[in-house]
Amino acid sequence: LLQLEPSAMVSDACVSYGEINGMNDMIFTTINSLTQETDFFSYYRLNLFNKECPFWNDANSMCGNIACAVNTIDSEEDIPLTWRAEELSKLEGPKANHPSRNIQAERPKERPLQGELGDDVGESCVVEYDDECDERDYCIPEDEGSAGKGDYVSLVDNPERFTGYSGAGAHQVWNAIYSENCFLKPVADELDEQSLNVPMGGLQAASDFRNVLHKELQRVEGLPLDNECLEKRVFHRLLSGMHASISTHLCWDYLNQTTGQWHPNVQCFKERLLDHPERISNMYFNYALVSRAVAKLRKHLDGYTYCASDPGQDRETKKRVNKLTATLTELPQIFDEKIMFQDPNALGLKEDFRNRFRNVSRLMDCVGCDKCRLWGKLQVNGYGTALKVLFDYDETKNGENPPLRRTELVALVNTLGRISHSIAASRSMQRALLTGTTHM
Ligand code: FAD
Repeated sequence: LLQLEPSAMVSDACVSYGEINGMNDMIFTTINSLTQETDFFSYYRLNLFNKECPFWNDANSMCGNIACAVNTIDSEEDIPLTWRAEELSKLEGPKANHPSRNIQAERPKERPLQGELGDDVGESCVVEYDDECDERDYCIPEDEGSAGKGDYVSLVDNPERFTGYSGAGAHQVWNAIYSENCFLKPVADELDEQSLNVPMGGLQAASDFRNVLHKELQRVEGLPLDNECLEKRVFHRLLSGMHASISTHLCWDYLNQTTGQWHPNVQCFKERLLDHPERISNMYFNYALVSRAVAKLRKHLDGYTYCASDPGQDRETKKRVNKLTATLTELPQIFDEKIMFQDPNALGLKEDFRNRFRNVSRLMDCVGCDKCRLWGKLQVNGYGTALKVLFDYDETKNGENPPLRRTELVALVNTLGRISHSIAASRSMQRALLTGTTHM
């Protein structure tokens, strides 16, 4: 566990584990209050149900499907309904559709959702009408290729935790995510660009996906590949770090299906995280990358208008965001994005990176459990936004920057909140293991 020593450096970032822990202690309360207590950051709009998995037929990997449930728990029928994977993965709380522009014109501005999210929700802070796409996006905008513009979902009512989603369906998604990391970066122009783009274009079936990948592997065999390049490493670390954070949350908020109690499961944490320290390291790396992106938005967020008609909420949200960005910018810079995409021989690498990330974003529609899909989509959008801010955003150039949608900002801040919580939970579970506490 040498690499998790507080003084050890998190590779690819300019910071030690101990420094990140200290930094996390400083922002934990603020980020928690933003994500748990403000309307702006606790409601997220996304297309959760209307999109089909673009890579394979996902009918057999849905958790609502009994085959998936049988896969995850030995005899699903023998346990109470509320403990079943199918039940655990369902969304809770009020949910409201996205209002269309036309309907908006007929509704009072401050209640565009007409109270569907509850009487005490400041809707002017929550509703977003613009969904303009930008070629610099790392994620697929939520309204792409589907009829509706999605639903508003409460993140507080639907915490990321154990759902029982598991088995072949979940593994297929993780495998496909990691296979996006096969950067087949040949020496420039030895592969024609069009064929390199094939796997990015939204394939319809898993077999197509595998065939193309296999063909690409064969075609480039023998060509010099830069397998160790920083960009490829960063791509892998981001996804592995996200996976590690999800695993940490499901171990932290775990349902013991024998007793029916929710509590941290330190054995789960040991097996999934601690026995693979590189996964924890990747989580710390993600913390460095995402917190740097949030810090970089300080000026932009200083001038941001959160609500159109609720000055009290607006002031409170802004105060907390400013506190967060001020703390982050006053600390030493812990991730240097300027060292990436600098190699003149790596033509098209950034585009490749972006396209692969977009594919990961599409893969979220293949996740067969509603709550997991909600948090998967939110976090991929959060990381995608962080990448956009780091590589395409320059605060000194007002007006030339890519647009930042409300959903992206909500996803970015919540993703930082998730990693922040994962790091705190991971430290607690490590302490429990060190002291021999098996039940927390
Ligand atoms: P998995 O976590 O499924 O891992 C599959 C394989 O990937 C492992 O065998 C290992 O080889 C490799 N691997 C594991 N972790 C890492 C890592 N950090 N880096 C690199 N490689 C790794 N379940 C819930 O209970 N709650 C959720 O909110 C939830 N959200 C999910 C979101 C998404 C997008 C997906 C795809 C799944 C989600 N799941 C969730 C399911 C969960 O992630 C696991 O798939 C499930 O618990 C089964 O775990 P497992 O032990 O079989 O290994």
